[in-house]
Amino acid sequence: MDAFNYKNGELYCEDVAITEIAEKFGTAAYVYSKATFLDHLDKIQKAYADIETVVCYSIKACSNINILKFLAQAGSGFDIVSGGELFRAKQAGADMSKIVYAGVGKTDKELSEAIEAGIGYFNIESEAELENLVKLAKSKNAQVKAALRVNPDVDPKTHTYITTGKKESKFGVDIERAQRVFSQYGDNGSVSLCAIHIHLGSGGNTIDPYVEAIEKILPLIDALREQGHSIEALDIGGGYGADYVTGYGPSAADYAAGIVPLLKDKGLKLILEPGKSIAANAGILLTEVQYIKQGGNKKFAIVDAGMNDLIRPPLYGAFHFIWPVKVDDRFVPTAKKEDLEIDGCETIDVVGPICEGSDFFAQNRDLPPVKRKDLLSIFTAGAYGYTMSSNYNSRPMLPEILVDGDKAEVIRKRQSYENLIELER
Ligand SMILES: *Cc1c(COP(=O)(O)O)cnc(C)c1O
Repeated sequence: MDAFNYKNGELYCEDVAITEIAEKFGTAAYVYSKATFLDHLDKIQKAYADIETVVCYSIKACSNINILKFLAQAGSGFDIVSGGELFRAKQAGADMSKIVYAGVGKTDKELSEAIEAGIGYFNIESEAELENLVKLAKSKNAQVKAALRVNPDVDPKTHTYITTGKKESKFGVDIERAQRVFSQYGDNGSVSLCAIHIHLGSGGNTIDPYVEAIEKILPLIDALREQGHSIEALDIGGGYGADYVTGYGPSAADYAAGIVPLLKDKGLKLILEPGKSIAANAGILLTEVQYIKQGGNKKFAIVDAGMNDLIRPPLYGAFHFIWPVKVDDRFVPTAKKEDLEIDGCETIDVVGPICEGSDFFAQNRDLPPVKRKDLLSIFTAGAYGYTMSSNYNSRPMLPEILVDGDKAEVIRKRQSYENLIELER
């Protein structure tokens, strides 16, 4: 589901007109749909209902505390990757037993805080980290659970920066090494190594890599069990496709149809760590055209959002559908895709105001004619949008607006100029 739809030529988020949000809260701004977040979570929970499953929303995708609160209330656990995210989860009232903690460089401080919080599983990336966790848990007289992150050496064929499940990556250990880690550390008295974690990285748009990875991991689990290790859970990570382009990503039900049969009757609790498949379509970046500029035979729309606000296009070559907030009937978009063909469009680059060639949102894109002060919506910006933004160029960070039915409220204020320097004295 995606609650951003055109009614009478005007973009709405749920029942609120986007133009009203722009008038009330200014631009640029992130706008989120609460119903979309909850719908996506619900669809995942239902798709896997046949086996014991814990959905751990990946906080780094979109981490506003208000969003975490309503996801926690709807039964979500959380995938965290830092002490800051643990803090957010605690503040959101999360069930600590439904927290999984990944990351290759967890510090002593972060590990200690997570031990004290009583999280569900530490996702262990190396022997050195496991030794450290054992030491810290012993010193606190604590019993904790851990999953070993295993690299199934599967290539989801996406951008190299977002592929993490191949052998030559800094994440996890390979299958042979996993056996040795269990023999060496499986019985240490403080850290119960009782689960396997795989996370393929992001961007796969087919179910195959998940099926392949699970098929590679199940024999490892059998072997470990034969050696007397009790393995209670399999965490298959995140990376599920989101609909950046209409019809692109498999649905939660599609993924479950491939995954659930492999795990039925295996006596394993399944843990999922979806990030963008929950958050991406739940948000847009709303921006206003400042200037139209003709440069050579190229035309540019220069907008009031920049790469500091949404870095995915230059960083990953990510596609975001962009369309004006108000259009004539003939320009109401029929799909969200790059090659959307509507007569009367013109080819344009949508760029930000920052002095970097990489400050763009779209290049050579066909858009209905736009002019100064028109509003544009940059779609599927809910995941890795606000959370990857920065103050580069001393640009105050944007507000986050949450829409719930016919109500829109600020869930994070726009930064002020004072905020920019408040920690600098
Ligand atoms: C980032 C991350 C996720 C979420 O990935 P998405 O592509 O947003 O679903 C899940 N698990 C781990 C360990 C991650 O680092």
